[in-house]
Amino acid sequence: MSVTVERRTRLRVEGTVQGVGFRPYVYRLAGELGLAGFVLNDSRGVLIEVEGDDALVDRFVVRLRDEAPPLAVIDRVLGEEREPIGHTGFQIVESPSGGVAGAAVTPDTATCGDCLRELLDPDDRRHRYPFINCTNCGPRFTIVRRVPYDRPSTTMAGFRMCARCQAEYDDPEDRRFHAQPNACPDCGPSLTLLRADGSPERPGGGPLAAAVEALLAGRIVAVKGVGGYHLACLANDLGAVAKLRSRKHREDKPFALMVASAEAAADLVLLGPHEREMLERPERPIVLAPRLPSAAVAPAVAPGAAELGVMLPYSPLHHLLAADAEAPLVMTSGNVSDEPICYRDEDALRRLAGIADLLLVHDRPIHTRTDDSVVRIVDADRDRPLMLRRSRGFVPASVRLPGGAPRPILACGAEQKNTFCLAKDDRAWIGHHVGDLENYETLRSFIDGIEHFQHLFAVTPELVAHDLHPEYLSTKYALERDGVETIGVQHHHAHLAAALAEHDELGEAVGAIFDGTGYGDDGTIWGGELLVGDCAGYRRAGHLLAVRMPGGAQAVRQPWRMACAWLDAAGEHEPPPALASVVDGRTWEQVRGLSGSDLGSLQTTSMGRLFDGVAAMCGVRAEVTYEGQAAIELEAMADPAERTAFPVDLESGPHGLVIDPRETILAASADLAAGVGVPAVSGRFHNAIARATVEACARVAAAQDLDRVVLAGGVFQNRRLIESVAIGLAHAGLRVVTPERLPINDGGISYGQAAVVARRMAAG
Ligand SMILES: [Zn+2]
Ligand SMILES: [Zn+2]
Ligand SMILES: [Zn+2]
Repeated sequence: MSVTVERRTRLRVEGTVQGVGFRPYVYRLAGELGLAGFVLNDSRGVLIEVEGDDALVDRFVVRLRDEAPPLAVIDRVLGEEREPIGHTGFQIVESPSGGVAGAAVTPDTATCGDCLRELLDPDDRRHRYPFINCTNCGPRFTIVRRVPYDRPSTTMAGFRMCARCQAEYDDPEDRRFHAQPNACPDCGPSLTLLRADGSPERPGGGPLAAAVEALLAGRIVAVKGVGGYHLACLANDLGAVAKLRSRKHREDKPFALMVASAEAAADLVLLGPHEREMLERPERPIVLAPRLPSAAVAPAVAPGAAELGVMLPYSPLHHLLAADAEAPLVMTSGNVSDEPICYRDEDALRRLAGIADLLLVHDRPIHTRTDDSVVRIVDADRDRPLMLRRSRGFVPASVRLPGGAPRPILACGAEQKNTFCLAKDDRAWIGHHVGDLENYETLRSFIDGIEHFQHLFAVTPELVAHDLHPEYLSTKYALERDGVETIGVQHHHAHLAAALAEHDELGEAVGAIFDGTGYGDDGTIWGGELLVGDCAGYRRAGHLLAVRMPGGAQAVRQPWRMACAWLDAAGEHEPPPALASVVDGRTWEQVRGLSGSDLGSLQTTSMGRLFDGVAAMCGVRAEVTYEGQAAIELEAMADPAERTAFPVDLESGPHGLVIDPRETILAASADLAAGVGVPAVSGRFHNAIARATVEACARVAAAQDLDRVVLAGGVFQNRRLIESVAIGLAHAGLRVVTPERLPINDGGISYGQAAVVARRMAAG
């Protein structure tokens, strides 16, 4: 075949284009159009040269974007004309030596449609093989030990491909060309079923069938997944769920569910089109959605919660389990209480043996622990995704850092729901969810994670950002790093900056930043803040009235103490009826004494603690087993039809507007004393805070001539609050900005810190 050589074009493709099957795709496309040339991966992405008939080159350029592989994300394509050189044939050229750090490490991705068809096809050689994958799907980040990303650098290094798998791997025309975890039943990983004592169980029908049988019999099975172990049981088996809850020492925290399909999910939760789309995304997060009254799951799955967390299978093993069990499964992280999720086999055996009756394990090691990600859709008309935990499926995809980092940055994040962030040029890599940095295990995971990311993405930090809180382990880590410049970033400013940077907003905005705890620049505990600022700087424009936190950290675990502090501030000295039976008079008096003194009580403007206090007043919860529990249950009880609101005062103070809820507290107290039900009181309280927030933001915006309001901080995980504030602000003609791709809670702090440091340095 002779091609009229008329033109040669060089194309540079940037974005997520490595490790996603882009080169074989280019190879096939060029072959189809009869074009000559080459394609290769380099440090900037993919480089292509095509040579051939002018019109065909044009067609190639158009189709290159339109027909790109499913996991590819093309940021831009730069073209340049070259002299034709009479090239024939098209080649995939090996990458220049030295490897391509970072660019090729992509997130773990749910089993694709093609693999799923093979999985279920009795005639396919991978029929029911639990580790089926291809270039378009399968494990990535969790199996990478180092770069460049090729098989010897992954936890698949120990498996030697059989001849048929190797042939697929070597064939650019094959869907498994350079699919690093490629495997089959003859050469790849396999399942084993273990008893709790670690001895293998060798059931006749195989490990999977026996595991399903155990689940159906009401037993608890630990299942090794992609980023760690899950604990599984039948979700509608009251006894099994209760057993799991008591063995896990997880008194009330909701369990996530796995169902076979979106249709099955729709039997459990109210599934709008945006929730369904989120559920089916290749990242496969847990989606929190309102629980249907008819949902056939044990109440102990999510006690006191109005929502259920559901997810679809994302590995072939999950697909087989969900299909064979034919019922929703609890799939909660394999850990005890608040420890990090287990991901190493010996560790899992040691820690989960007391919880699981059996362990369904496999021999493909997990290199990096990643928890399931969690998302909620709010403000349904506008489809605002609210990321609550960004981990498996999303990590390590980079997020743009507007303006770019003048020097490489490490941002160490906060204490709770910690993530770290590395940034270089205009890219930021936010690490997997580490968890609460309060024990050796999580600190280890934090430090190892930072080192791993530094290697994967070839970033050697010169600037290190940290929270202002001197006691956070992340702060201490930052200050102990040698040879770097350290920069403290105020917690709520980081929340504001994260939201602005994610949306590429460089101008000033008003920020309503509501959370549980953040170290203020005056040394008190902030958490109900009105800020005005951009990524570089901020000023405080207002705050919630400050009260004492009687007993400091104890007030977080015992919300009744916050009820006492707020009632005392409002001039009421007696415990409300709901607490009179829980707290004896003398203890109440002692704590009330603390509320009025400097002894052992920090000042706080925390909005989270106000919600806690009101929840305790209502008798929803005097003590909590996890942070935010009282507020979550108060929200769950609120009457959606309630339209009236308690009064809230807005006054001027030395630091701007003061949101003073003392009248709110008195009104709630009076309602409760008069026998008004908690659903109405909760509804009126939510409405009061929402209205006051809208009014306060509108006043600050008008005074500063701004039209944008950022809503961020963990308190805005509250669906009712964020929806009513967003609607109110929109009615007031203000544009609402919320974090969407990064967590609205402290999981987003590290990226915000990086954004602040980048802008400050750029500004000189
Ligand atoms: Zn696939
Ligand atoms: Zn094989
Ligand atoms: Zn925060």
